[in-house]
Amino acid sequence: MPSEFDLIRRHFTRPAPHADLAVGDDAALFRVAPGMQLAVTTDALVAGTHFFHDTPPRDLGWKTLAVNLSDLAAMGAAPRWATLALTLPAADEGWIAAFAEGFFDCAGRYGVELVGGDTTRGPLAMTVTLFGEVPAGQAITRAGGQPGDDLWISGWPGLAALGLMCLQNRVRLADASRALAALHRPTPRVEAGEALRGIAHAMLDVSDGLVGDLAHLCECSKLGAMLDADALPLAPLMTAGVDELLARQILLAGGDDYELLFSAPVDARGTLAALARKLDLPLTRIGSLIEGTGQILLADGAAPPRPLDVRGYDHFISPD
Ligand code: ADP
Ligand code: MG
Repeated sequence: MPSEFDLIRRHFTRPAPHADLAVGDDAALFRVAPGMQLAVTTDALVAGTHFFHDTPPRDLGWKTLAVNLSDLAAMGAAPRWATLALTLPAADEGWIAAFAEGFFDCAGRYGVELVGGDTTRGPLAMTVTLFGEVPAGQAITRAGGQPGDDLWISGWPGLAALGLMCLQNRVRLADASRALAALHRPTPRVEAGEALRGIAHAMLDVSDGLVGDLAHLCECSKLGAMLDADALPLAPLMTAGVDELLARQILLAGGDDYELLFSAPVDARGTLAALARKLDLPLTRIGSLIEGTGQILLADGAAPPRPLDVRGYDHFISPD
């Protein structure tokens, strides 16, 4: 059986040209460019809690970095360096090689250098800490929303939750490939996050469900929100094969999407339409920020706007 050091050398040691010292010493060394702030985030994925034990290791390698990239993107920061803490039940080298491949696929795509980590025996879990840079004072927090701002969402919210429902046999689709890809290989909106600096007033990434995460943005900005039911980007879910009612529930409640939810002034609409074209990424205007801390209303044209029960939506996706 290979030693821990052999495994690290073979699978987790790659050049890190933008670090002063990377894998192999007691700590990594790197420096932030002048005028930049260091942005740091960490996220753990635990078998049985965040993924099924039989999830393909290549996908897990990708996703464990992608979920952290999404957090930095949501601050408008550029990703640079990562550390990886791996807890493995056994030194299954085939599994580790596939995991590392997925991890470095994602790292290469977004310019991240792995500079250190820890490898221990235990229940399967992986924790990435990701370091990035943002021009000092320009990070986009959850707290900057203004009354009257438009609310926008990137991409195709709900597809990952639909993928999970497929795996749980709660829905059956003729072709589940797109939903499963969204679940297993989420695309962090790194370019969009950086491009939104100077445009978005407040932003976060949707990991726990659109309504639940919107509630966090509202709380931090001390505002409420009005969602427009007719503006929700339901088409990808309906094309995948679910009816409109279920599509709406999944879109509002489903987690694991890693899309960006942000507020921006009304006069940025043209800029955002141009940005969506440039990035080839849908940006959909789904409502606005209103006075009234924490209140989230859904307007659907016919009936008067009604409050959305955030917790009700939580329970929809995770019945426990
Ligand atoms: P220490 O005992 O000093 O913490 P370790 O034996 O845990 O050192 O790790 C040796 C080196 O390998 C360190 O530089 C550490 O950052 C790196 N490392 C350990 N595990 C990983 C991993 N999964 N990915 C990347 N680097 C790792
Ligand atoms: Mg160690």
